[in-house]
Amino acid sequence: MSKKPRILIVGGVAGGASCAARARRLSEIAEIVMFDRGTHVSFANCGLPYYVGNVIQNEEDLLVATPQLFKERFNIEVRLRSNVAAIDRANRRIEVTDLERGTTYGEDYDYLVLSPGARPIRPNLPGIDLPGIFSLRTIPDSRQIVEWIEQFEATQAVVVGGGYIGMEMTENLHTRGLKVTVVERLSQVMPLLDQEMVAPIHDTLIKHGISLYLNDGVAQFEKGEGHRIKLTLQSGNQIETDLVILCIGVRPHTSLAEKAGLDIGPGGGIQVDGQMRTSDPHIWAVGDAVEVRDVVTGQTGVVPLAGPANRQGRIAADSIMGRSSTFRGVQGTSVVGILDHVVAFTGASEKTLKKLGMWDQMEKIYLHPGHHANYYPGAEPISLKFIFKKEDGRIIGAQAVGQKGVEKRIDVVAMAIQMGATVFDLEEAELCYAPQFGSAKDPVNMAGMIAANVLKGDAHLAHWEEVEESGALMLDVRDVMEYKQDHLDEAVNIPIDELRQRMQEIPRDREIWTYCFVGQRSYFAARTLTQHGYNVKNISGGFKTFSMHETAKFLS
Ligand code: FAD
Repeated sequence: MSKKPRILIVGGVAGGASCAARARRLSEIAEIVMFDRGTHVSFANCGLPYYVGNVIQNEEDLLVATPQLFKERFNIEVRLRSNVAAIDRANRRIEVTDLERGTTYGEDYDYLVLSPGARPIRPNLPGIDLPGIFSLRTIPDSRQIVEWIEQFEATQAVVVGGGYIGMEMTENLHTRGLKVTVVERLSQVMPLLDQEMVAPIHDTLIKHGISLYLNDGVAQFEKGEGHRIKLTLQSGNQIETDLVILCIGVRPHTSLAEKAGLDIGPGGGIQVDGQMRTSDPHIWAVGDAVEVRDVVTGQTGVVPLAGPANRQGRIAADSIMGRSSTFRGVQGTSVVGILDHVVAFTGASEKTLKKLGMWDQMEKIYLHPGHHANYYPGAEPISLKFIFKKEDGRIIGAQAVGQKGVEKRIDVVAMAIQMGATVFDLEEAELCYAPQFGSAKDPVNMAGMIAANVLKGDAHLAHWEEVEESGALMLDVRDVMEYKQDHLDEAVNIPIDELRQRMQEIPRDREIWTYCFVGQRSYFAARTLTQHGYNVKNISGGFKTFSMHETAKFLS
């Protein structure tokens, strides 16, 4: 680049700041100015719930970089409290309002990058503007919540919305000693995941004394006694509380782009190409405000996550500097800690694939291995759901919930999905192993092996939701004690170790469906019976998966 290019960036947090810093690393001569209407740049939104929970105790720890650091280390000028109000595309000029002075001025650009993020949804409900009803997006938001809790010595809070920010706020308010109530319109929290996979999360919320209102929404807010707020739910239930946190999702900030006539996609985000360029060749857009392609489903949509925003910022800078980097798309890889549990996700869920009419091409398996070798003290089970294509074994999605080692497995699968890997690749994946960290057959290998067995015809699968209609004989191969504790009403019990001696008790004219606690002993039984000429299916994930399905059914 010969002439001194002028790069202006709107929004100085995840996408904007990473774009600015990358642009400087690629060009010492560019003039780079970053505008943010807020009071901070480059702060850790993702840390805000933990500041409310007092886990992060100093507000300054939320600042990844300051305007001073941007100036000194990167020679990037940051202008805070500066709202970019309009874009004059024809003259490549933006209009900026200095929110401190109330003045407006223009700035010319060669390249403009939009990273304005998203804003929390505040539904138009009666009483929504009452004091004590908060959203969480910025450092001042989190400060106000903390001040409110301290000023009124709050002991109760209602979190509206059970997505990941709602769950993180629930955990942190609970950690601060507040009694928390969660109100969620759907029949489950963590709506990205399939319902049965969040059953352990519902259990842990209840175990920790969190009140859970599922299938319910807020109808109105009213002023309660003193500072308190009274909520009336759609069900008619009423709750009085010290504060309310709204966590019902975000909408992309697109007004600036819309006003400038940039293309907006069907999902409501700014439309961009693989280099993060908008419909104007001099303007790029990144982060929560843009619409991106899902690598698994091919659908476009808005995916408000920090990882994609950072990567996109880097790619926009590359593109401005003439490099050919391309954004590969998103797969929604995410993780949330909820009290003593961790839940993580990547790719597509069963319900999304069903909605898109793609489920017929897919198969799923469940497994519940220990997070490390079971012989080493402290192994905790991970419940894994794994979705792959029947035709070629390509990995489509994975969901995991447990107490330890959850995100590590989902990270491995996330990379496999991005590389277009199959279940056969996971069978062969060479992963870290020492007994305190994993298993010689890691849960990821096991998922690959189980799925590969299905595709090779070594295991015929059945699923719990098919049991009622099956007409098959249910064979419970667990120990007598386990069977006595709980079992399917119509199941016959032959413990696996007695199977060969008692095989004559099993009818040859019926299909046999085997099950145990997690699906492993029943797989061994199915292999034995198959080799003796029986027509057998193994119910994936065993009785543990059945219990998760039952909890889900009960709550819906
Ligand atoms: P933002 O980070 O929101 O930055 C946009 C900036 O642009 C804002 O500072 C705004 O003031 C400014 N701006 C907007 N319009 C203008 C304008 N016209 N002029 C000037 N400035 C403007 N993601 C994860 O992956 N993992 C997590 O654990 C996680 N936790 C989160 C927890 C919370 C509480 C929140 C709120 C978000 C969390 N996220 C998490 C999401 C993640 O923070 C966002 O995806 C990411 O910050 C998006 O980056 P962005 O640059 O698009 O937008």
